[in-house]
Amino acid sequence: MMQRRAPFLREQELPTLLSAGAATAVLTIDLGAIARNWRRLRDLAAPAECAAVVKADAYGTGLAPVVSALLGAGCRTFFVATLGEGVSVRDLAQTADIYVLNGFFPGCAPEFCAANLRPVLGSTDELVEWASFRPAGLKPPAALHLDTGINRLGMSASALDKSDVRDLLRGVDLSLVMSHLACADEPGNPKNAAQRCVFNTARGKLPNVHASLVNSAGILLGSAYHFDLVRPGIALYGGGACPESSCEPVVRLDARIVQIRDAKPGDTVGYGAKQTLSRPSRIAIVAIGYADGYFRALGSSDQKPGASAYHGDKPLPLLGRVSMDLLAVDVTELPEGSLKRGDFIELIGPHVGIDDLASLAGTLGYEVLTALGQRSLRRYTGG
Ligand SMILES: *Cc1c(COP(=O)(O)O)cnc(C)c1O
Repeated sequence: MMQRRAPFLREQELPTLLSAGAATAVLTIDLGAIARNWRRLRDLAAPAECAAVVKADAYGTGLAPVVSALLGAGCRTFFVATLGEGVSVRDLAQTADIYVLNGFFPGCAPEFCAANLRPVLGSTDELVEWASFRPAGLKPPAALHLDTGINRLGMSASALDKSDVRDLLRGVDLSLVMSHLACADEPGNPKNAAQRCVFNTARGKLPNVHASLVNSAGILLGSAYHFDLVRPGIALYGGGACPESSCEPVVRLDARIVQIRDAKPGDTVGYGAKQTLSRPSRIAIVAIGYADGYFRALGSSDQKPGASAYHGDKPLPLLGRVSMDLLAVDVTELPEGSLKRGDFIELIGPHVGIDDLASLAGTLGYEVLTALGQRSLRRYTGG
């Protein structure tokens, strides 16, 4: 499937394109911050190994530049969700260990093997198929996913007591046994300790196999949760779990003003006429909308204010609904002429974090990040 991507740009290449009018919105990704976040997590998790989860196009930040930044920082193990993502990482990282979290579909074992990818086997059916796959008589490595309470992927931890499963496992070169916490972002939740306990018992039945339990939030639960390898995703990209003290923001999003218009009290703004102006207003129409990953839930109405954009330190509240490709912000408070057609304003950045925006939209930083960058021009700094 062909995928249309914003070109991989270096910072200095940007002005040429901008002056050609190519960009309406720019997603700036700080590769230096990603590398620093990875090193902080590595230090927090040591002596456990720190891997990196780069599924979903590195959470929307761009697989190729992110994988090269992480390789530069010292990362040697990557996790992706799908076979296709694994093949892309292999092209970028010839010697890395690459795990494919979503297991594999019937008949795909040769494709895993061709790219030297390790499936994370999560059911007896997958185990049977992988165990019977012997290219050139070899046993290619794989991981085993045990379910310890999330009921998503993985075999029940108690399956390790069944003799047929034990027999099957003898036919597989297991390089990792892993599980996943359901409530890692709630440090006080007793489910964390309960899952850890089940996992600890299970991994004891697989001596000499490396073990991995936690994602970003789980790293912060302490060393008892780290086992041999940790699997951070969101914290690398500046979101969610990581406390502000230890994790830097990575992305900023700026979008361009298409036009500035004046409107009078009693006028409404946008689809559905959900926002009525109470004063003479100056409105900037900005070239970004929900098709760019700026959620419609961030819009404003007379009943409920929405998100704000920023010009310098000045908030510019949204007016009315977010449309597919456009939104409106109130620039009445700015001195006349301080913004003009073609200027950029901040939608995510020093004043608006991805998690702030997410909570306004009733979602998570994960969803904000993965929704962005499909259409915006991506600009990389700090690489
Ligand atoms: C996505 C994922 C991770 C990474 O989670 P974050 O919360 O982004 O750190 C780790 N492990 C598994 C199994 C995952 O699916």
